[in-house]
Amino acid sequence: MRMATSRSEIVKPDFAAGRRHFIFGDEHDQLRESIRAFALKELAPHADEWERTTFPDSVFHRMGELGFLGLDKPERYGGQGGDYYTSLVLAEELVHGDSGGLAMGVAVHTDMAMPPILAFGSEEQKREWVVPAIAGQRILCLGITEPDAGSDVAGIKTRAVRDGDEYVINGSKTYITNGHRADAIVLVTKTDPDAGYDGFTLFLVPMDSPGVTREKRLEKLGMHASDTALLAFQDVRVPETAVLGEVGKGFYHIMWELQGERLIGAAGCVAGAQKCFDRTLRYALERKAFGREIGRFQVIRHKFAEMATKIETARQLVYTTAWRHQNGEYPVREISMAKLHAARIAVEVADECIQIHGGAGYMREYGVERVWRDMRLNRIGAGTDEIMLDVIGRSYGL
Ligand SMILES: Cc1cc2nc3c(=O)[nH]c(=O)nc-3n(C[C@H](O)[C@H](O)[C@H](O)COP(=O)(O)OP(=O)(O)OC[C@H]3O[C@@H](n4cnc5c(N)ncnc54)[C@H](O)[C@@H]3O)c2cc1C
Repeated sequence: MRMATSRSEIVKPDFAAGRRHFIFGDEHDQLRESIRAFALKELAPHADEWERTTFPDSVFHRMGELGFLGLDKPERYGGQGGDYYTSLVLAEELVHGDSGGLAMGVAVHTDMAMPPILAFGSEEQKREWVVPAIAGQRILCLGITEPDAGSDVAGIKTRAVRDGDEYVINGSKTYITNGHRADAIVLVTKTDPDAGYDGFTLFLVPMDSPGVTREKRLEKLGMHASDTALLAFQDVRVPETAVLGEVGKGFYHIMWELQGERLIGAAGCVAGAQKCFDRTLRYALERKAFGREIGRFQVIRHKFAEMATKIETARQLVYTTAWRHQNGEYPVREISMAKLHAARIAVEVADECIQIHGGAGYMREYGVERVWRDMRLNRIGAGTDEIMLDVIGRSYGL
């Protein structure tokens, strides 16, 4: 135990300790290295261009080829059969692609749309959609939000009505990531408006079904490399085999899905904040004002100390919650805390990094303004800060 020392020995603090967290092993380190190398070599050089054009579908093909789209998915569907932490590693290392939009598009595919198919889908649905999705040959999206209902999921209006051995779907979904490029959508509908929370059903709908219209491409504050769609469903007929999971259990299925989505999002926030911190630290050690590096001013030093403390607390919360999840718990309270805290601190860190850069921080060239714009989404998407606070508060019986 290094901490207990004798009078003769002076123990120096391990400020530069690079010890990995206990949830990770050698295999995670190797995976980390290969994803990082891929992101730096094949993604980052295109980040600026993809901000204008959105990233191409070939990124999915390439990531499928490399085995990155099914890291924690079962081997029998083409996945790598890894633990949940491999998914965290992907979320963390993709930040080196310098594109929040790309990381989000990939996460929607791997950690939002795919898990409910694997958890609740039939063998046929898994073979038809998960296998090619892991291979990067088919792209998935997830449709919960509607023009009149986002936080209030139970308030959605998209209806699926049974007609013989088919269902007829009518309604619309908005802000759907990958909505323009996806081959299929995991769609939340209402099948029985009088049944309360037991009146919802998920469907797995091919996006080329007659009656599905990809309406406009929505313009956003950030995440420009992702495509975001408004979708319309008009008399879309699907066979009953398109039901995903149990009829009437869709609300519970999607609440389960949201937990994984939130934890992965939180991991991405921490990694994004860390990357912005590192970049800004380099800047603060180079940029001079009043005869010294700006990082040597106590005020700036304290800003870094505050940021580092925020990042570390969020990271510990994410890792410990991931450990609970990996070990069989369903830690909704902690996931909500991790999502809330990581999203908040990521925005605060990005904002402070702009400040430390001065005018340069406001310029596109330095990339920190983009981190702020991209990160800002995380306080809204996958459940707003206010909804996270409500979930946490209610978990205490309030
Ligand atoms: C870029 C982007 C990508 C997205 N991708 C997807 C996607 O792929 N699929 C998908 O389904 N959705 C997606 N979303 C939608 C996102 O999940 C919703 O925007 C989010 O859940 C909030 O819903 P809303 O926009 O309808 O806001 P609203 O629900 O209208 O909320 C407005 C405000 O009211 C507050 N509020 C609402 N209810 C309460 C309450 N009970 N207590 C306190 N405050 C409350 C909210 O916190 C918020 O501040 C995306 C959104 C964006 C911006």
